[in-house]
Amino acid sequence: MKIFVVNAGSSSLKYQLIDMENEQVLCKGLCERIGVEGSCISHKSADGKVYETETPMPTHSEAFQSVVFAMTKSDAKVIDSFDDISAIGHRIVQGGSIFKGSCIITPEALNDIEELGALAPLHNPAHVLAIKACIETFGSEKPQVAVFDTSFHQTMPAKAYMFPIPYKYFTDYKVRKYGAHGTSHNFVSSRCAEIMDKDIKDLKIITCHLGNGCSITAVKGGECIDTSMGFTPLDGFMMGTRTGTLDPSAITFIAEKENLSPADLNRIFNKESGVLGVSGVSNDNRDVVAAAKEGNERAQLAIDMQRYQIAKFIGSYVAAMNGVDAIVFTGGIGENDAALRAEVCGYLTYLGITVDTDKNALRGENKITTDDSRVSVYVIPTNEELAIARDTLALVK
Ligand code: AMP
Repeated sequence: MKIFVVNAGSSSLKYQLIDMENEQVLCKGLCERIGVEGSCISHKSADGKVYETETPMPTHSEAFQSVVFAMTKSDAKVIDSFDDISAIGHRIVQGGSIFKGSCIITPEALNDIEELGALAPLHNPAHVLAIKACIETFGSEKPQVAVFDTSFHQTMPAKAYMFPIPYKYFTDYKVRKYGAHGTSHNFVSSRCAEIMDKDIKDLKIITCHLGNGCSITAVKGGECIDTSMGFTPLDGFMMGTRTGTLDPSAITFIAEKENLSPADLNRIFNKESGVLGVSGVSNDNRDVVAAAKEGNERAQLAIDMQRYQIAKFIGSYVAAMNGVDAIVFTGGIGENDAALRAEVCGYLTYLGITVDTDKNALRGENKITTDDSRVSVYVIPTNEELAIARDTLALVK
């Protein structure tokens, strides 16, 4: 069975085709600039063949048509026809309190995803466009599945997901913590239990997804009991360009000083803050680490702040779970930045964590602590596309 995994944004479409017999990626690609001048597709097959072209894509429908061409007719083709594909799995950012797991996309589910656009205006409307374009391109008979970034976090108790604001904002507007990166936290925590050869029901795991966006989740007995991202992916700790948690009065103070609108504030705190805002160098971790090595003090400060905040979040989740058996690092930074992992673990020696420097320097999936470390720390590469494909397969079977 082959599953087509789709991650659609308002002007972009990322995809992979995965053969579920062996869970191998057959091809992957990206359509960019959908709806604007200069739309293009970049497609690569598993054997390294590349198909790249600029072609008009006024809507997601034309983007899917380009993908069909790339997969079935281009020099980098991997299948003869889309009939070879069993189902389509969509990454959906916001499932609200409605979707507690992945689901087959029925007209009712599509309607709910559309209505949840109120909570994720930058994402859910784009997902809806993509789902409708898939129906147009592949027909309504081709099963489509929605896999939500939020559903893994739906097990949080109210004491973790409620905000201490007037209750009417929860009842009237559904303002609460939803979390994000759930597919990744679910994937790496399950994998962690597998590697430890233990039943996840008996484990307390803290998963740190550190990429451009960053979040940390407390997974107790296989269920999320708390997570750092909140109402939106802006909450938590500092990321490439996002603030993480901020004193609300700092926000109103700055807004008054500079006469800023809610849209201005959204832009500043989502796109101009975090590691970029403090360092003034870049949102890319590698650039900031390089600048700090050359003596840039603000770059060093940004790095110090981020690592300190990560350690504090981990500490708070040790408290929330009254213990921890394993900590997992994943995401572009979590998987690749050994110095960050070592420094964060350096804050946690009180837990009996001892990092093995040689193992920490290795690439790929590894346990990075010594055998006598009281808590095991792992690097586990995330694979959200595979997780989406697995859920899709399970539902259509
Ligand atoms: P992601 O959003 O998961 O793709 O992660 C992107 C982040 O990972 C960027 O800040 C990158 O600088 C960082 N990253 C990727 N590769 C490395 C690496 N080899 N060393 C340090 N950071 C890395």
